[in-house]
Amino acid sequence: MTRLILLGPPGAGKGTQAGLLSEKLGVPHISTGDLFRANIGEGTPLGLEAKSYIDAGDLVPDDVTVRMVESRLAEDDAAGGFLLDGFPRTVPQAEELARILDGLDQRLDAVIQFDVSEDVVVDRMLSRGRADDTEEVIRNRLAVYAKETAPLLDHYRDKLIVITAEGPVEEINERTMAAIGEAR
Ligand code: AMP
Repeated sequence: MTRLILLGPPGAGKGTQAGLLSEKLGVPHISTGDLFRANIGEGTPLGLEAKSYIDAGDLVPDDVTVRMVESRLAEDDAAGGFLLDGFPRTVPQAEELARILDGLDQRLDAVIQFDVSEDVVVDRMLSRGRADDTEEVIRNRLAVYAKETAPLLDHYRDKLIVITAEGPVEEINERTMAAIGEAR
């Protein structure tokens, strides 16, 4: 299994787990949040467009986000697989992803859901100190997740692998690797 989506609320540890999985599976970690932050850092037009949404904890519009992911998935290093972290975040984005993968003659292997309580995600976000990790913005991002992103759990029910994402990072990674292995 090398074509994977990592799903879960902000603060679930998707980025940390994606880093570990990326090394073990030998496929790139593609984080839309990281791509947006890199564009903001470089002052690109895409970054300028995305910044106000990110600062407020709102979603960047689907068309902008989908175009960015489409060009990233077309790069050579993603030909053998990828870990999508933070994308898709809406059902229309998932439909666009299906179209993109179809065009590349690829298919998704699984969707890994990192299941974690709200108390834990708020603690994790408050401790990492990112610009969009203030309490008000965190609250909005959790509300956006519940409304826009959680419906993907049903959308992907046939491909879903649920991982309990509380406890030590390495244990969560081991559980994930085992679950990927069993689902092969
Ligand atoms: P993340 O690093 O995944 O927490 O993403 C940080 C912020 O980037 C989010 O709060 C959104 O504003 C934006 N973002 C990341 N991925 C997406 C996406 N798939 N669709 C829309 N906005 C996104």
